[in-house]
Amino acid sequence: MTGARAEALVLARPGALEARSLSVPGTGADDGILRIEACGLCGTDHEQYTGHLGAPYAFIPGHEVVGVVERAGADALARWGVSVGDRVAVEVFMSCRECASCRSGAYRRCERHGLGDMYGFVDVEKAPGLWGGYATHLYLAPDALLLPVPAGLDPVVATVFNPLGAGLRWAVEVPGTGAGDVVVVLGPGVRGLAACAAAKAAGAEFVMVTGVGPRDADRLALATRFGADLAVDVSTTDPVRALRGAAGRLADVVVDVTAKAPAAPGQALHLVRPSGTVVLAGTRGTPDAPGFDPDLIVYKEIRVVGALGVDAPAYRSALALLASGAFPFADLPRRTAGFAGIEELLGLMAGETAGERPVHAVFVPGA
Ligand SMILES: [Zn+2]
Ligand SMILES: [Zn+2]
Repeated sequence: MTGARAEALVLARPGALEARSLSVPGTGADDGILRIEACGLCGTDHEQYTGHLGAPYAFIPGHEVVGVVERAGADALARWGVSVGDRVAVEVFMSCRECASCRSGAYRRCERHGLGDMYGFVDVEKAPGLWGGYATHLYLAPDALLLPVPAGLDPVVATVFNPLGAGLRWAVEVPGTGAGDVVVVLGPGVRGLAACAAAKAAGAEFVMVTGVGPRDADRLALATRFGADLAVDVSTTDPVRALRGAAGRLADVVVDVTAKAPAAPGQALHLVRPSGTVVLAGTRGTPDAPGFDPDLIVYKEIRVVGALGVDAPAYRSALALLASGAFPFADLPRRTAGFAGIEELLGLMAGETAGERPVHAVFVPGA
């Protein structure tokens, strides 16, 4: 296996993605190599690119990876429950399986790995360097976590495992959403659409989604195909009045998946019913939250929960829901790009480059 090369894009410093060729390492009983087919891009990718998210430059970005197990040792395959040639999704986090956090299932807080060892965030100088999705190959470390992709699911569509896993965890698992619930999702991006679908799949009786202004119009129109019964532009419509009018009552669960929307937490407190649950899963980048009245939390006895990550059960459910075809994730307005087009795609996603802003953006090495 000597001599094989991997092509990759290394983010050397903010704004500087550089093509680099790295050698594909040999592997033993305990590790392996993935041939990357697709890597979903999200807001985090753009924040890494611009330098808004501190990262150990230089590194290969890309943390929503789907590919085929090209080679792996017998011990590794047994542990992952996959075979060479299988299509898998790779979790961002690694797990030592031995520390107290890993044994309790909270492997996202693994004491041996933690945030420093997340795929798409690791220094390229750490051997063998292939720690990110903007490449032809990914190193499957002994502590990597793999999720089998159901047969027949397209690898580009399979990258939705990441936002849909988030939707399932944040809109269903964390708040305990169940049959008959009224759910409001703040933010109509891919995570918002995923949250709508997740809530509906969990039996929610009524789902409302909100967005802001013309920029979100297409996404709001799309949301009805992803489980939303009502889509509201809060720049022109009072969401509380709209919810009362259509659902007849306030929400059991409000899920905030907005990005940089300081007013969203305040809206959530007004949209939720007394004793309801608000899940805050979006970040604002500022401590200011206009309209956020903490007294409402007291008077209405609201449960406010923060949610950041996703775990394996949610990812597995997401892959199963994708494969079921219950919602048209295959038809999401999507842009794919190869090595040459990835910077333009990141700019489009952030609205910095003129052109249609895709709901779902995916890097495909061969494109
Ligand atoms: Zn991401
Ligand atoms: Zn651990």
